[in-house]
Amino acid sequence: MEKHNKEGQKKEKQSMRHVIAATLGFMMRTAWKEKPMLFGAYVLSFIAECMQKIQMVVIPKFLLDEIIMIVEGAPVQEHLQKAAFYAALICGVNLLANVMSNVSAQMKSVIGEWFNEFFELQIAEHTMKIDFEHTEDPEALNQLNLGKEGISWYSGGVTGVLNGFYDIILNVTVILGMGTVIVLTCPLLLPIQIAGLLAIAFFNAKNNKCEVKWYGELAKTNREFGYYLFQLADFSYGKDIRLYDSAEMMCKKADKISRKQAEGWRNVARMECRYNWGMDIANALRDGFGYFYIGYLALTKVIGIGDFAMCVASASSLYHGMRGIVVGCQEIVKRCNYAYQYIKFLEYPAAMPKGDKAVTDGKHIIEFSHVSFKYPRSEQFVLEDINLTINQGEHLALVGLNGAGKTTLVKLLCRLYDVTEGQILIDGVDIREYSEEEYRKLFAVVFQDFKLFAYTLRENISFGESAKDEEIQRVLELSGFYEDTRKLPEGLNTIIYKSIDEHGIELSGGQQQKTAISRALYRDAPIVILDEPTAALDPIAEYDIYRHFDCLVGNKTAIYISHRLSSCRFCHRIAVFGDKTIKEYGTHDELVGREDGIYAQMFKAQAKYFTPV
Ligand code: ADP
Repeated sequence: MEKHNKEGQKKEKQSMRHVIAATLGFMMRTAWKEKPMLFGAYVLSFIAECMQKIQMVVIPKFLLDEIIMIVEGAPVQEHLQKAAFYAALICGVNLLANVMSNVSAQMKSVIGEWFNEFFELQIAEHTMKIDFEHTEDPEALNQLNLGKEGISWYSGGVTGVLNGFYDIILNVTVILGMGTVIVLTCPLLLPIQIAGLLAIAFFNAKNNKCEVKWYGELAKTNREFGYYLFQLADFSYGKDIRLYDSAEMMCKKADKISRKQAEGWRNVARMECRYNWGMDIANALRDGFGYFYIGYLALTKVIGIGDFAMCVASASSLYHGMRGIVVGCQEIVKRCNYAYQYIKFLEYPAAMPKGDKAVTDGKHIIEFSHVSFKYPRSEQFVLEDINLTINQGEHLALVGLNGAGKTTLVKLLCRLYDVTEGQILIDGVDIREYSEEEYRKLFAVVFQDFKLFAYTLRENISFGESAKDEEIQRVLELSGFYEDTRKLPEGLNTIIYKSIDEHGIELSGGQQQKTAISRALYRDAPIVILDEPTAALDPIAEYDIYRHFDCLVGNKTAIYISHRLSSCRFCHRIAVFGDKTIKEYGTHDELVGREDGIYAQMFKAQAKYFTPV
């Protein structure tokens, strides 16, 4: 058991060393690459601090010695001049050191802020690029939260971590200087200061451990809390929240979590209070013994008054230097632990293997070969043994009841997830072998839960490419939205939503869907996928979409998910999903002709509502 414990502790130490080395290395490299001036700021600060110490500890001794000589009857003229010189030196060095220190603090603060934004951007960019699967993985989401908070206010970012490192270097220099003064004048002061320091380091370590532990526990509740607050503050939830009176429930949930957090903070404060008491007592004892000892040396005339003053000042500097090293080390450990969460997020293992094959131009044949799939962290298969071939230019409709697996099939094809069993092949190559970036270019998709952004209409369609007006106009005409956009105050440059611009507009559900369809058409990818593309459209707009369907997708391959079976007539083939697999497959006429077929029954059931009696 004890052996086991020791091994555990050894591993913990090794991993701690790794965390510190990796984080310090990362911060140094990033600072050097992005803002090397930061190191200049530290050098400036170092020189300023050394000057301050000399000005506070050493020069006053000479000043005091001169004054005492005058008091004791030495020639006033000579010693007064010297005293005035030392006094002026103290003022001059102090002023210069303060100016240098201020300049370096300003530089550090501006660069530190710059890095905060830099990391925010990096984390946002990485979040948008990580495997889609991770966006539903609570562990990955926790890691994202830990990384976000760890790199910013918990660790203090680059300057937060480097400050700790800088403090250690500075304090080592201070200790060497002050230690020499003490050893030469009042040597017993050294063990007194060291004993006091060890006691304080002990209590400080306890404090830090307590904080780091609490920070780990906080990640989950913070994420939950953030979710409720986000929902409460997000306008797009406004209708549901009001109409279903859910505000009270949400506030209660947020309140419950906030109480839980407050209780946690209280516990941490209670623990810290105890340790702070310990530190205060250790401090008082250290001061008491120290003054008693130096006072005794001065009274017995072992040291002079100038030395007495220098000893008091250097004892204090030595203690603060030693404390600075211990606290600096502990601070580095703590800050590196926080910031390391960010590195861990950046290095979060990919959920899917990455290929590097280029996609060939031209015709594409899609094949699902014995594909089965269950979602990550789920035990149940949602698709089983799917076999399906989609030829170039073919328009395929996927139909079936809700939850039958149609959207899942499309997500697998887009490689948002990898199949659990079987293979998806494009042009005879397993899609896992293609380079992700190239592969994604094959598809223009409108998912049911597509999202528009609070940018201009033009940007929502072209995603920042320098798009020609005629090109955007063409796709807007195809989706039937062009006439409406002509009436918009700023035309294509009208901003959608009011989140960023108060003059932004709110589009109706149908208009949003038309924008999403335009976006897909603008992409001009060889495979078009539309998942319930007309759900929010009025019957006329819907009819127009179907009528122009050939025109919309042309001779591209198209996969089309719809509940409206009459719309499937426009497709060459129809696959009917049921019981996690494809139950029927054929043309509209073939499937309608199968008397007991699922499709025929569904079609009849829908037709009932549209056929005049
Ligand atoms: P359809 O498009 O035919 O309505 P889906 O493909 O959306 O059906 O869903 C098929 C099944 O997969 C459903 O049982 C659904 O609950 C489940 N499912 C969908 N998305 C997820 C997910 N992200 N994680 C776990 N299960 C999911």
